[in-house]
Amino acid sequence: MAILDILVYPDSRLKQVSRPVERFDEALRAFIQDLEETMRAGPGGVGIAAPQVGRFERMVIVDVSSKLKIKHHNRLILINPVITSQEGTAVGREGCLSVPDYTGNVARAKFITLQAQDEFGRERVYQMERYEARAVQHEMDHLDGLLFLDRLVGRRDLFRRQIVESSKPQDTG
Ligand SMILES: [Zn+2]
Repeated sequence: MAILDILVYPDSRLKQVSRPVERFDEALRAFIQDLEETMRAGPGGVGIAAPQVGRFERMVIVDVSSKLKIKHHNRLILINPVITSQEGTAVGREGCLSVPDYTGNVARAKFITLQAQDEFGRERVYQMERYEARAVQHEMDHLDGLLFLDRLVGRRDLFRRQIVESSKPQDTG
């Protein structure tokens, strides 16, 4: 296992569109372990996408189980994910491992239905809502070369992080 280097804005590679995962082999699963370890090493990390560590393939990990009192699926490995339906919108604050100094307000679908493969290539369908749905949408944006900075509700919706982290740090993905 290894903690991988994270690409940080304005690295232009973060704008790259990732290609589908085709081989579900041991090498892929070893990479996913490293990706998860990298996510957990970050402060408040609730998600990570493969292109954030320079691997331009369509896979993300989301785990919002550290948030109490919300509905979630524990740790999710989502490979070649596609949102097949969505409903409602809500604005919420987002942070990103690749944008360490800022957070911002972004509008996302409240409810989503998602198709994805797991690390063995098996097809799965998930229903997600609110915070978990937001985290997944944030990570999926990375697969298309988008950051939360590209989706800010308005120019006043970008916030510099405190130098001294409060006792409740912002989540990052
Ligand atoms: Zn991010």
